[in-house]
Amino acid sequence: MIGKWWKKRTLEKIQISDEQWQAAEAQLFCLDHLGAEDRRRLREMAREFLAEKQWTGAQGLPLTAPMQLSIALQACLPVLNLGLEHYRGWVGIVVYPGDFVIPRQTTDADGIVHEYDDQVLGEAWEGGPVLLSWFDDPDDAGGVNMVIHEFAHKLDMENGEVDGIPKLPEDISRRDWIAAFEPAYEDFCRKVDEADRRGEETLLDPYGSEHPSEFFAVMSEAFFETPEVLHDEYPAVYELLRRYYRQNTLPRDSEGPLRAFSAP
Ligand SMILES: [Zn+2]
Repeated sequence: MIGKWWKKRTLEKIQISDEQWQAAEAQLFCLDHLGAEDRRRLREMAREFLAEKQWTGAQGLPLTAPMQLSIALQACLPVLNLGLEHYRGWVGIVVYPGDFVIPRQTTDADGIVHEYDDQVLGEAWEGGPVLLSWFDDPDDAGGVNMVIHEFAHKLDMENGEVDGIPKLPEDISRRDWIAAFEPAYEDFCRKVDEADRRGEETLLDPYGSEHPSEFFAVMSEAFFETPEVLHDEYPAVYELLRRYYRQNTLPRDSEGPLRAFSAP
């Protein structure tokens, strides 16, 4: 009971005006497919998410309401029809001003330790916080939705191994998942290599070829940001993500004009 009372009190303290929501939503093309009732539910979930998480601005970044609303809406979008409980068990959200550096250490086969700096846009720690970079101009992020990307990693971690296979609902078998994702991942790795050789770019973010877990995160970004591209390239992956996220992100009227993309 005490827990519930506390949560209710915290939620009541968060007052967000309609104008504030609208301003945050207007920047997010990834919400285009949602109807009025879905948007209402998403706002409610985002409010709860704001209250439940512990927010920190890194490197002196002052956290503002527009920033937090934008991150909360994007973080909640993938779990809109799955439930916020998928993000329980950890509380920290750390926001950096732009991309940031994580010091890494690896030990090679000879036992020699190598230290290096990794420049990243975001990172999700198992059982720990989500680290995100914030850009006032979304174009500076290079067409990447790092919020959806990092939260897809969180979903992937829910069942332990970070392998590109999240905890699946009863109506999706592991076999279904692998049958759609494995050939698409292999094809994508081939396309990225080929594009590299020719000095060209792939339609989907080549970072997805790094590992099956990155492929799931990048395909999740595409599912919400550029669903037409994903559907054209890998229809089986689109279909499985539609069943997994329980959302249809393609424009309702496929005969109509294409919706605007936020990716350049
Ligand atoms: Zn990643």
